[in-house]
Amino acid sequence: MWKHLVLLRSLSFTWCAGGGDVLIKSHPRRSFHLYSGSTMAKSKFEYVRNFETDDTCLRNCYIVVRLDGRNFHRFAEQHSFAKPNDERALGLMTHSARTVMEELEDIMIAYGQSDEYSFVFKRSSNWFKRRASKLVTHVASQFSSSYVFHWRDYFGEQPLLYPPGFDGRVVLYPSNQNLKDYLSWRQADCHINNLYNTAFWNLVQKGGLSTSQAEEKLKGTVAADKNEILFSEFNVNYNNEPSLYRKGTVLIWEKVNETTMKQVRLPNEEEKEVTVMRSRSKVTAHHCDVIGEQFWQQHPEILESDG
Ligand SMILES: [Mg+2]
Repeated sequence: MWKHLVLLRSLSFTWCAGGGDVLIKSHPRRSFHLYSGSTMAKSKFEYVRNFETDDTCLRNCYIVVRLDGRNFHRFAEQHSFAKPNDERALGLMTHSARTVMEELEDIMIAYGQSDEYSFVFKRSSNWFKRRASKLVTHVASQFSSSYVFHWRDYFGEQPLLYPPGFDGRVVLYPSNQNLKDYLSWRQADCHINNLYNTAFWNLVQKGGLSTSQAEEKLKGTVAADKNEILFSEFNVNYNNEPSLYRKGTVLIWEKVNETTMKQVRLPNEEEKEVTVMRSRSKVTAHHCDVIGEQFWQQHPEILESDG
């Protein structure tokens, strides 16, 4: 703002700027003075601006902002989250992520699981001149305020006991394969953790083991062993667990057709109600594989060409 046009309220004292280079005297009878940017005086303090570091994200790269709940182990305990998954908490995370996508520009896809969410900005995005600090703080603050704002929609009368926080980081991926591998990595993490947690909490809640006994029992086991424990001891077929828990949540923009009713009046006719069909872009949620090619073939609009 200071660079372009500055409106100074006239005060009855002399305002000295530019380290003594420029003297601007106010006129006591006129209430405003206008100064244009080219002749704008700089205060002697202006040099501190040069201490700001350049954090522009490299061009042609996908910008990923990943948020992670701060100390959510404690937060989940204090708010009595169901183990191993709390549908309310996951729903609130996704609602907050949806708000981020709707409010901020250029996010093509988001992926969430547990207390984390990743947001992918299109590689050609020039939002906030690609400044990493601006991008990550906007995502984190929009997400956090939405989480608190919508708490009651998911937890009803159960009070929010203290303000939750989320840290954020920015990672750049130069190729489509790198980006797909990044999202696959997060989904594989979801699978590994959820299989472990499902086995762990079945052993504790249904098997009557203490948490340390359950931990001991699962030590050194591979996926097949955990599947076997779940099936033989608790009659749980892991593949039948909800895909929300096993796969996490993918948010993308999709064109959806909506029908609305509209009042119209044609010449020489009574006013009548007609059905109007329109298509608009909406954020839709999916609990599907992003590992493998099928998802990307079904949604070719998400990635920009590598060329
Ligand atoms: Mg965390």
